[in-house]
Amino acid sequence: MIQPERMVRTFIELAQIDSLSRQEGAVAERLAGDLKALDGNVRVDDAAAKVGGDTGNVIGFFPGTLPAEPILLSAHMDTVVPGRGIRPVRETDRVRSDGTTILGGDDKSGIAIVLEVLRVLKERKIPHRSIEVVFTICEEAGLVGAKHLDVGSLKSRHGLVLDSCPADSLFTRGPAADKLAFVVRGLAAHAGVSPEEGINAIQVAAEAIARMRLGRIDAETTANLGLIEGGSAVNIIPDRVVVHGEARSHDESKLAAQSSHMAECFREAARAHRVTKDGQDVHATVEATIDRDYPRMNLGEDAPVVKWVMAAATRLGLGIRCEKTGGGCDANILNGHGLNIANLGTGMREIHTVNEYLILKEFNQTARVVLEVVSAA
Ligand SMILES: [Zn+2]
Repeated sequence: MIQPERMVRTFIELAQIDSLSRQEGAVAERLAGDLKALDGNVRVDDAAAKVGGDTGNVIGFFPGTLPAEPILLSAHMDTVVPGRGIRPVRETDRVRSDGTTILGGDDKSGIAIVLEVLRVLKERKIPHRSIEVVFTICEEAGLVGAKHLDVGSLKSRHGLVLDSCPADSLFTRGPAADKLAFVVRGLAAHAGVSPEEGINAIQVAAEAIARMRLGRIDAETTANLGLIEGGSAVNIIPDRVVVHGEARSHDESKLAAQSSHMAECFREAARAHRVTKDGQDVHATVEATIDRDYPRMNLGEDAPVVKWVMAAATRLGLGIRCEKTGGGCDANILNGHGLNIANLGTGMREIHTVNEYLILKEFNQTARVVLEVVSAA
């Protein structure tokens, strides 16, 4: 019943509408119109002002005709760079970018699936559970569209985010993440004339980083330092370095331990650097900021939405497995608010690169699964 050709056309149209984070206005307007035309009760929330963007999240409600729990179906409207002037190339088994930009299958493949399912339900008058569509902004900018969503106003407690790669993977577990910032302060001095009066903040940071556990910490935990800035000239001992990083874990206590380990490495390095200036003892300092970026996702195999997807897959003769991911997505935020949301793959591949493509067989499969989930309650 899914019309694969129509769904690919929709996808290609959506991919051609530029929608970098905070600039999703054009695609949001198109989608709000599409959802209204499909008889949805549509609104755009007030997240635009909160994120400094040109539109809020698009939310559509489609009252059901089956006595079953409503389901939330979500995908994000924004894409990463390079994402302007995308020219999708259609091949027999896939759609790819022309190699100069990303494709935006992440996550317009998810959006196209939701629209196709709604179209089939309407034209075939298929009985279905209530469907709440949430097309978010700024997922790629730190899940901030979902963070500003008024979750209390949503009618559904269970749902699917369509925002991952293989169609046979249902992601039910994902790590919580901390965002880390370390400001190291030393003491500026002339590097040639009076180096003994300075404290080199770059050196302090280097010593801290050298003793830090980073990368894959254990099966559930990862850590990274990804940005560093500091110093002003080669003949000045630098008095300030800022280092940004992250830590992620499926286990809250391991995450807390890793984040504080990273902060402690900086503090220890700072303690080892001191000079006496004008009779005063001056030492390096570190200001460590640890902020929770997003909560973990941890659905049991008995969560309703997991059962719905597994039952649908069985009826369709498909194999779908529950998996864990090391990434974060809007589902983390929604689960943090007490909803039960899993992330189903759409067939996108090599996302966030100019080699991105969408496997049409998988794209169609996920549309069939979603249609089965919403219509067979
Ligand atoms: Zn995505």
